[in-house]
Amino acid sequence: MSPPVFRFAPSPNGYLHLGHAYSALLNFDRARETGGRFLLRIEDIDTTRCRPEYETAIYEDLAWLGIAWETPVRRQSEHLDAYRAALDRLSALGVVYPAFESRAEIARLVADGPWPRDPDGAPLYPGDARSLSADERDRLVDTGAPYALRLDMAAACRRAVGLSWNELGEGPDGERGVVPARPEAWGDVIVARKETPTSYHLSVVVDDALQDISEIVRGQDLFHATSVHRLLQALLRLPEPVYRHHGLVRDEGGRKLSKSTSSTGLRELRAAGATPAGIRQLVGLG
Ligand code: GLU
Repeated sequence: MSPPVFRFAPSPNGYLHLGHAYSALLNFDRARETGGRFLLRIEDIDTTRCRPEYETAIYEDLAWLGIAWETPVRRQSEHLDAYRAALDRLSALGVVYPAFESRAEIARLVADGPWPRDPDGAPLYPGDARSLSADERDRLVDTGAPYALRLDMAAACRRAVGLSWNELGEGPDGERGVVPARPEAWGDVIVARKETPTSYHLSVVVDDALQDISEIVRGQDLFHATSVHRLLQALLRLPEPVYRHHGLVRDEGGRKLSKSTSSTGLRELRAAGATPAGIRQLVGLG
């Protein structure tokens, strides 16, 4: 049997904090305990928010923590062709359509009264671009208008019924073991945009499959996204990894850490004299 494969997949859109250290160390420790491989993947498809200096800082901070990874590191921005191919497969299944509403229009559509929200709290797609005629779609594309490619969730779910995943960690409500996937809770999610042939959901499942990731260790903030990932894996006929979601490191006020709060940033802690062993202690891996 081939050894298990783990990955830490940060986005270089800010400096790493204690929460990233916890996730990276958990993955690295699991790989060592199981005789597995540990990969680092740079999730940099959002060119408006990712910056080279953050990527450099990721390498520095992880090396300082004593983490070693295989090279070359996969950078998503260098593999748009792989995502485009997956997107084409979804389009061929007839489960993707272009939607032309801007963020402001979507906000307007959901402004009057209660509107269902996805597990992250964002309103489900309220538009009706799915029912545009082929002619109307072509006409709008030809005008050069920006659009998002959305998954026709109902059609996609009809092609992949009864999905679940094996949870080795724990969801935010104590879910573990075989967890039923509920992708419909996300509505017609965006899988790509006019100028980018991918999205977080699409590239993460393509890469996890291409890199043979067998156990995905990541924060509970991505627990519910796993439903979308299982659906895309089923549609694209990709292998199913097991998942181990972990609790989030919180600040003294119990809030989720963000990349902009400097008191929990690894660089700030290092500058203030923290040691790698001290960081392990702080996140409960001492
Ligand atoms: N790139 C994602 C993030 O930084 C993590 C992706 C994942 O672990 O699935 O939040």
